[in-house]
Amino acid sequence: MSQRNGRTRRERANADNLKAQRKQPCARCGQQIDYTLPVDDPQAFIAGHIKAWIDHPHLREDPSNLQPEHAKCGKSAGADAGQTNVGLTSRQW
Ligand SMILES: [Zn+2]
Repeated sequence: MSQRNGRTRRERANADNLKAQRKQPCARCGQQIDYTLPVDDPQAFIAGHIKAWIDHPHLREDPSNLQPEHAKCGKSAGADAGQTNVGLTSRQW
């Protein structure tokens, strides 16, 4: 249980299935997704959760709860994995 992104095997399989469908466009910004980009590209495809699984744990491995997104869009939304914006502390001096 020490995987970097904490995804289960089934979650990865669901994401791979979604990626194989080449769905368009990004569910968050509405722009096309280039499925040929490397995974570390901010414009690359990720499988985002429609409902954050942190709030809906039973939907975490539900393929119908996935949508295509750009990596940057999913990250900026912060909905996936219930990110807590670590490192984005506000400094209002
Ligand atoms: Zn997008």
